[in-house]
Amino acid sequence: MDGKHIVIVGAGPAGLAASSVLPRLGYRVTMIDRSNTLGGHLSKWYQLFPDRAAATVLLEQLTDEVPDSVSTMLGREVTGGSVSSGAVELTLDHGEHLSANGLIMATGFDLFDARRKEEYGYGIYDNVFTQAEIEEMFRQGQIETRHHRKPRSIAFLHCVGSRDLKAGVAYCSKVCCVTGVKQAIELRELLPDAAIYNFYMDLRMFGRGFEELYQQAQERYNIRFVRGRISEAAESSDGSVIIKAEDTLTSRPLKLTVDMLVLLTGMQPAAGSLELAAKLGLVLGDDSFLKPYGLTQQTFKTSYPHVVLAGSCTGPTTLTEAILSGRSAAMALHESLFKLTN
Ligand SMILES: Cc1cc2nc3c(=O)[nH]c(=O)nc-3n(C[C@H](O)[C@H](O)[C@H](O)COP(=O)(O)OP(=O)(O)OC[C@H]3O[C@@H](n4cnc5c(N)ncnc54)[C@H](O)[C@@H]3O)c2cc1C
Ligand code: SF4
Repeated sequence: MDGKHIVIVGAGPAGLAASSVLPRLGYRVTMIDRSNTLGGHLSKWYQLFPDRAAATVLLEQLTDEVPDSVSTMLGREVTGGSVSSGAVELTLDHGEHLSANGLIMATGFDLFDARRKEEYGYGIYDNVFTQAEIEEMFRQGQIETRHHRKPRSIAFLHCVGSRDLKAGVAYCSKVCCVTGVKQAIELRELLPDAAIYNFYMDLRMFGRGFEELYQQAQERYNIRFVRGRISEAAESSDGSVIIKAEDTLTSRPLKLTVDMLVLLTGMQPAAGSLELAAKLGLVLGDDSFLKPYGLTQQTFKTSYPHVVLAGSCTGPTTLTEAILSGRSAAMALHESLFKLTN
């Protein structure tokens, strides 16, 4: 499209996918990310569900597909701007300004801050972790408690900061159930004798291969699934974590001591994205994620023809969904700009 300039905010899987499409259609593309690395959250994961593919391989494929002509600005945050008919003006934290003909918002998500659920003791007790910290341990090839001991028992707690009206989050974060199952299996392989529990409200194994992974977790990997929510956690004198829960299938209270408690924290809009959306005149849903024009079709479109949304800035997504939506958003933007100029 005769050198029209598109800015993509976010170089996660969705932003990378969009940036692989647009230069091939003749656009000049600038991709901006506030982090110093490409790949967004994908760069923090180890093995992916459901098939345990290496995250590094997918990241390499996505970055290899980005043409050299894309100008990538890392370590720069988009903090403001304005959208007017046919034009986009953006302000960056370093005081720089960018003008463009089109914008793709691919700002992704942040994890719920587990400290907000004080009753689980994250940030207070040594051996309460988040699933993101467990991914980092897998990446380092070392699973140990904060006292450098090999854990003999581990419990996962589902729905931390999701489906929790007290925390102001009504929605399900979609990927944490399968992440909990996948991580439990990975732990079993490293710790054949450990007792591994998953405490859940109900299991949402919606994707291809997810339910099968859950079956394997029970039958082949001896992971114990307990339907019930942990009401509180406490720390014992040796640093292990005492958890109180109710098994809602048997209606019996349960008290258990584990070496590690892992909180499966939910997805929420990326920090700063609400303020940025307000400045750009973009609409938010009740869940605070960016709201597209339609939730069935038109899932990338905004009320501006030259601004589109991609990936988990519109709500929890899998990688597959983020990548597909990045590509689709790029095509939707192309179609809009083509109509505007013809
Ligand atoms: C623990 C965990 C494990 C997961 N494992 C899997 C898995 O195995 N398989 C799977 O399919 N999915 C998995 N997911 C989901 C997957 O991580 C997401 O679907 C994917 O990261 C979404 O990509 P994205 O590009 O939309 O957002 P992100 O990955 O969040 O990338 C967004 C990027 O935008 C940047 N950004 C945000 N705001 C600004 C700004 N104002 N200026 C500049 N840059 C900005 C951020 O720095 C970030 O790099 C997992 C999720 C979690 C929480
Ligand atoms: S995916 Fe599972 S753990 Fe995550 S919010 Fe939904 S039900 Fe809870």
